[in-house]
Amino acid sequence: MVSFRSNLSPVEIKTFLKTVADYTDDVLILYCYKNSTPCPKCGQLQLCRSGAISLYSSSLDKVTHTIIACLHCGYKNISVELICERL
Ligand SMILES: [Zn+2]
Repeated sequence: MVSFRSNLSPVEIKTFLKTVADYTDDVLILYCYKNSTPCPKCGQLQLCRSGAISLYSSSLDKVTHTIIACLHCGYKNISVELICERL
């Protein structure tokens, strides 16, 4: 089992997971870190960047998606990692 890593408080994690609930049918979130980048929608410094793995991916140790979510206004964005290194 992959453990979830983050620097968010339990309340923030709850908000984050609620915000990105649309995505979690397809991806497994590995980590989530709040950073000091302003949200493109509301400008608050409550943007979280997280890495996720597609549930359809063959290997469960490589991040395939990046999810950005704002804890303040609910802005969210998902993007596919372009570089998927294969060993
Ligand atoms: Zn926002």
